[in-house]
Amino acid sequence: MGHVHMSLRFDYASLMQLAIRSEAVSQACSCMNTPVVGWESMPLSLREGQLRELGTLSCSEEEEAPFDEYHPDGTRYWSADAPIAPRYFPYNRCNVWECIVCGRCFLRYTEGGGYFVDRRIRLINASLIVDAPL
Ligand SMILES: [Zn+2]
Repeated sequence: MGHVHMSLRFDYASLMQLAIRSEAVSQACSCMNTPVVGWESMPLSLREGQLRELGTLSCSEEEEAPFDEYHPDGTRYWSADAPIAPRYFPYNRCNVWECIVCGRCFLRYTEGGGYFVDRRIRLINASLIVDAPL
């Protein structure tokens, strides 16, 4: 979507590796001022310049990525404990970002289209990542 640079493509294994590294960060940081444990709109307390894009979870044929969500245990889109399933929505449209101050990692994508656009962000939690096939 307008990106001209080559982006690192994360798969289950590399995302898990990153998540474990991110969870090992214990220092207090302003990126945690507003919790984004589940999906949230980009908080005003989080400056855009504090985040650096590391790569993407989305596949090359993004337009064909399904809008199905993965909730085998009855979670919902907004649930703080909803699984992070890279092949499912919205993870199949996400880019992977890192806080340049502390190294915690986040997923981000833009929800909606037309006049409704919402930039959403969620902290990557290793224990929620599942390698669920479509
Ligand atoms: Zn941070």
